[in-house]
Amino acid sequence: MNRSKKQSDIRTRCVHTGVYQDATHNSVTTPIYPTSTFYFEALGRKKRYDYTRSGNPTRTALEENIAALEGGVGCSATATGMAAITAVLFYLQPGDHVVTGDDIYGGTYRLFDQVFSKRGISFNFVNMRDLKAIRHVITKKTKMVWIETPSNPLLNIVDLEATIALGRAKKILTVVDNTFLSPYFQRPFEFGADLVVHSTTKYLNGHSDVVGGAIVYGDKRLEERGRFLVNALGVSEAPFDSWLVLRGVKTLAQRMEAHQTNALAIAEFLERHKNVRRVYYPGLQSHPQRELIRRQMQGHGGVLSFELKTDKVPLKKFFSRLKYFCLAESLGGVESLIEHPWSMSHASMGERALKASSMTPETVRVSVGIEGVQDLMDDLDNALRR
Ligand SMILES: *Cc1c(COP(=O)(O)O)cnc(C)c1O
Repeated sequence: MNRSKKQSDIRTRCVHTGVYQDATHNSVTTPIYPTSTFYFEALGRKKRYDYTRSGNPTRTALEENIAALEGGVGCSATATGMAAITAVLFYLQPGDHVVTGDDIYGGTYRLFDQVFSKRGISFNFVNMRDLKAIRHVITKKTKMVWIETPSNPLLNIVDLEATIALGRAKKILTVVDNTFLSPYFQRPFEFGADLVVHSTTKYLNGHSDVVGGAIVYGDKRLEERGRFLVNALGVSEAPFDSWLVLRGVKTLAQRMEAHQTNALAIAEFLERHKNVRRVYYPGLQSHPQRELIRRQMQGHGGVLSFELKTDKVPLKKFFSRLKYFCLAESLGGVESLIEHPWSMSHASMGERALKASSMTPETVRVSVGIEGVQDLMDDLDNALRR
């Protein structure tokens, strides 16, 4: 492929990066290579690949694509988002300390709190909107700052520029989980992040038909170590799954625009509704961090949350009346999903952490799909009847 220095439009990169791999038959799309191993031409003489855990052409195509979208030097595609996060934690040694948010993804919280905490790594879960709170817990042992923004499910925004600068000044590795906005709306490397991780299960694949993850590297040294870890731990993405994500990512730009347009209309509709107490969505004028949102995000994404007045509309009744919003965890697919974080996506946090968070049993999270927005609003309107 002819790679010019000037970076093309992200919509072009979605479609054109990580294809043209088939020199044998010139297939326009990237073939799937479902092989575990690759033969040597002679002892000591092989082509690029030898074993699929270590490398596979279909996965390489996906990795080139995601690296180009984020603006990283390279990428490892992993079996799940949690596989990517697990591998990144192995950059650390026992005794190291991590600072992260008190409202991060439930599965990440569980991994940190119940797995790595028992393996000699310590964590502080703080309000990451408060730089003083971060500074307050940093010690000589702090080796990683883990940022997730917007947060889940309350869509709080962490200041990427200031938080990353704080980490860099102290030579602390800064990692950003960019799952919620995707590189179409937010690119943490532009603020100096060291690593970006994804659950490609969500917007990058976008069709709710595969689980996957990605680690995107900000420099070559981190890439070398990361590739070693992904191979050593055995957490790389299967060829078929890589191919699905690669197919999904080509329409990332168009999907994100459609998710966002629908999400804004629904957020405004819910904000006006008398049986809704409060709406959380970065695109709303009422979001308390408007200025920061404008500075670091190119868009607001497709996830919103709201507080249902459950004294008016009981939760069970509300969920059972919905026709288009599917009651399911996960987000980022073309179909609208709705869920109850307290008992579903965030239940793994445990009762104590849940109660300490700003979430309530009335919080409802919506992943707005790309359906006709009037159908979606009618559906919600019907479910919100007393
Ligand atoms: C879903 C999700 C993950 C975990 O990804 P899996 O693919 O489910 O393993 C991590 N971070 C965020 C923000 C997520 O939404």
